[in-house]
Amino acid sequence: MKTILTGLLAIVTLAWGWDILSSSGPSGGSLLWTIRQEGLYLTGLFSIALMSLSMILSTRPAWLEWPLGGMDRVYRLHKWSGILAISFAAAHWLVEMSSDMLKALIGRAGRLPKENYTGWFDTMRDLAKDMGEWAIYILLAMLLLTLWKRFPYKIWRHLHRIMPAFYLVLAFHAAMLAPLDYWLQPVGALLAVLLTGGAISSVLSLTGRIGQHRQVSGTIVSVCTSFTNITAVQCRLDAGWKGHRAGQFAFVTFDPSEGPHPFTIASADRGDRNITLQIKGLGDYTRSLAQRLSSGQAIKVEGPYGQFDLSRHNPRAQQIWIAGGIGITPFLAWLESLQGQSNQTDIAPVADLHYCTRDRDTDNLVPKLESLCAALPSVRLHIHGARQGEMLTTEKISATQTGAKRTEIWFCGPQGLANVLKEGLQSTLRGRFRFHQEAFEMR
Ligand SMILES: Cc1cc2nc3c(=O)[nH]c(=O)nc-3n(C[C@H](O)[C@H](O)[C@H](O)COP(=O)(O)OP(=O)(O)OC[C@H]3O[C@@H](n4cnc5c(N)ncnc54)[C@H](O)[C@@H]3O)c2cc1C
Repeated sequence: MKTILTGLLAIVTLAWGWDILSSSGPSGGSLLWTIRQEGLYLTGLFSIALMSLSMILSTRPAWLEWPLGGMDRVYRLHKWSGILAISFAAAHWLVEMSSDMLKALIGRAGRLPKENYTGWFDTMRDLAKDMGEWAIYILLAMLLLTLWKRFPYKIWRHLHRIMPAFYLVLAFHAAMLAPLDYWLQPVGALLAVLLTGGAISSVLSLTGRIGQHRQVSGTIVSVCTSFTNITAVQCRLDAGWKGHRAGQFAFVTFDPSEGPHPFTIASADRGDRNITLQIKGLGDYTRSLAQRLSSGQAIKVEGPYGQFDLSRHNPRAQQIWIAGGIGITPFLAWLESLQGQSNQTDIAPVADLHYCTRDRDTDNLVPKLESLCAALPSVRLHIHGARQGEMLTTEKISATQTGAKRTEIWFCGPQGLANVLKEGLQSTLRGRFRFHQEAFEMR
């Protein structure tokens, strides 16, 4: 992620630098006024470039999943490019505001001559300036709400949906206020590509067309709630569904007024368009979901997405699979997909599957896992019941080490557990491992 963001900023800096080096002669301003002016342009360019990237990523481009490592990573890049874009927008606004301070400090004498425009173009530039300023205030407020995790996701999501409209305002601001000579330079070409990509993405988003070509309808076949507040929902999808790879997820809409929620498809693809979801009551909506669902109910499913995919495992590396709570869902799909293979003993990898649960005695996924693993002798199941005092530690993971040169860890569960394990394994396995993670969080 850092490489992509740094790379984009480096390209923008090069294009901006090219314009400075190739511009004809001195601008006639003092050094401080020139620095202010170029600082204004550079922060503006950084901001709109990152904002355009963020907009393009918001369209859920499935073709980027493979190079970026999954849709959860695409979303993380979308989030951080958005955060950085707003930070540069704030810097841009501060540089703009520094004009009064400079006038007081060094006077107006060295100011750069203003570009003179008249008529319609001048009116549009003034409008773009005012609209840009207001859009920045709104984006800053949105940034605060995004970082304030306690702000209800439901309200945040609705507010977030109007972001593309503000992007269009800022794109108009950038296009109107960029110096005219930019449009004859590489920086103008770069700006044009980014603004076009961002504007198309905004329109797709505002007209509700994101992910439309991956959406299919379906019907709920059965709903079954366990006493650990996990609801198993079996669905049958319509003919447009092209199937999924074990471990992938989909955006599922049970209620159009609530909108889509991402859930892993916790079953293997049997080619019959039947899928099973295992949904834990983790928030306002999912906690009361079981009461709202009934068999025969129409649903909409968008997907599949995700790269938490068994076929990506390295057969030469030792396999350690770790699930925290409902993070077991992709592994359920993996285990189920391995059952279906006629030569399963040959293709099932040798793996240690660690499942961390609150209470192993009451968790009804435990017997399911035991029966799935019983048919797969190469997969060793380790259940860690917190109530039974069987917490998963890095020592327990290291104890299953076979001495293989490389280890692959596939993790799905709470971020806190991921951090603790990653840190502990750094010292025991000393960098000889790869950590694949499915993030169950998109905000
Ligand atoms: C790739 C992926 C796979 C997932 N697989 C499963 C699964 O198999 N089983 C399961 O029980 N849970 C799964 N989740 C988590 C599940 O999506 C959330 O628990 C659920 O959306 C919470 O909704 P809520 O309104 O009840 O909770 P809230 O309290 O409103 O939200 C809790 C958190 O859930 C996330 N969230 C809420 N609504 C949405 C939404 N519409 N889109 C994206 N994120 C949202 C946000 O991070 C939010 O902070 C998965 C999440 C992701 C990203």
